[in-house]
Amino acid sequence: MLTATGQGTADVAVVGAGPVGLAVAWRCAARGLRVVVHDPAPGSGASHVAAGMLSPVAEAYFGEHELTGLLAASAARWPGFAAELAEAAGTGFGYRTEGTLVVGLTSDDLAEARRLWSYQRGLGLPITPLRPSELRDREPALAPRVRGGAVAPGDHQVDPRRLVAALRAAAERAGATLVAGPVRELSDLDARVTVVAAGCGAAALTGLPVRPVKGQILRLRAPGGGPPGFGHVIRGYADGESVYLVPRDGGEVVVGATVEERADTGVTAGAVLRLLRAAVDLVPELAEYDLAEASAGLRPGTPDNAPIIGPLPGRPGVLAATGHHRHGIVLTPVTADLVAELVVTGEADPLLAPFTPERFAGHRRHG
Ligand SMILES: Cc1cc2nc3c(=O)[nH]c(=O)nc-3n(C[C@H](O)[C@H](O)[C@H](O)COP(=O)(O)OP(=O)(O)OC[C@H]3O[C@@H](n4cnc5c(N)ncnc54)[C@H](O)[C@@H]3O)c2cc1C
Repeated sequence: MLTATGQGTADVAVVGAGPVGLAVAWRCAARGLRVVVHDPAPGSGASHVAAGMLSPVAEAYFGEHELTGLLAASAARWPGFAAELAEAAGTGFGYRTEGTLVVGLTSDDLAEARRLWSYQRGLGLPITPLRPSELRDREPALAPRVRGGAVAPGDHQVDPRRLVAALRAAAERAGATLVAGPVRELSDLDARVTVVAAGCGAAALTGLPVRPVKGQILRLRAPGGGPPGFGHVIRGYADGESVYLVPRDGGEVVVGATVEERADTGVTAGAVLRLLRAAVDLVPELAEYDLAEASAGLRPGTPDNAPIIGPLPGRPGVLAATGHHRHGIVLTPVTADLVAELVVTGEADPLLAPFTPERFAGHRRHG
């Protein structure tokens, strides 16, 4: 069990000030530990471009049972986590609970969407098919061509840029210190426990199989500074393209995202074209919005698409909290709570058993 030190050596060094590292820092500092967070550019990783969907249901994919369970466990923590964070940080972060519509433009698109939601319903997850008229009653902005869809009322959203700012404020208010610089070797750190929450940067520090998975994404802005003409997150298939539309309080609509096995952050004309065409096919009014930003980020992907959380074998005092791939925002609460618990008690919650670094022991480049 880790008890707080007086002064000198930190109790906990956190590498990475993205949502995962900052939330771990906040939770540890709030339990009285001396925490130092290292990052040359806080909040500049995948979270800077992320859409912020909290989608335990619509992101439940075939063959990912254990990950689906962790997504559901983290989503269930979100309401309490959001309330505590708003209180601790003294600011909001665009947490919205209108729910998610899953829609198909053509009959082929609808068949594709239905195949997945039938699987999700089979798991007992809350997603309910709707008739086209029921869809349009909920969101009149949907194109008349949309053939059908479903509602996942428990799939919510948050603004990741504002979330990171709130987590930073909460961590600093709880006493955590931020050091603006990169960590080159874990052995350079003077702390009793080190938590590696460096997203894609974790691979170089630990040898874990975390690889960059590029995502291009757009930000549109409603004309005249008004709110977007729809309130649900809309996830759709449009002529074979998969796209999501996330409406924000301030008039922004996030349109994403590509999934590419590349490590650059360039934005291509073809990706912008495909995302915009699918977005406008589903919600025609988006053609009148300003194109405010086109960007790309690197998801910290793993071989099984699930995060890597727990003690690093052969490295006493080092914990990994990385590899959150497409789900780092929704998984922030459960990761932070269970890593803080592990730091303080030395006990790993059984929920973490499928996600330990040991499952990749054969992949690691150095110990
Ligand atoms: C296009 C796109 C859309 C997404 N949409 C969603 C979504 O809707 N919902 C969802 O849940 N997730 C989404 N994600 C995934 C989510 O953004 C990531 O899983 C999440 O940001 C991971 O958080 P993190 O803190 O582990 O890493 P990051 O956010 O990548 O932050 C890592 C931090 O570590 C720092 N760092 C790296 N190396 C070092 C080093 N050596 N020393 C010190 N600091 C270092 C970086 O500067 C950075 O600040 C999306 C990602 C992308 C790219």
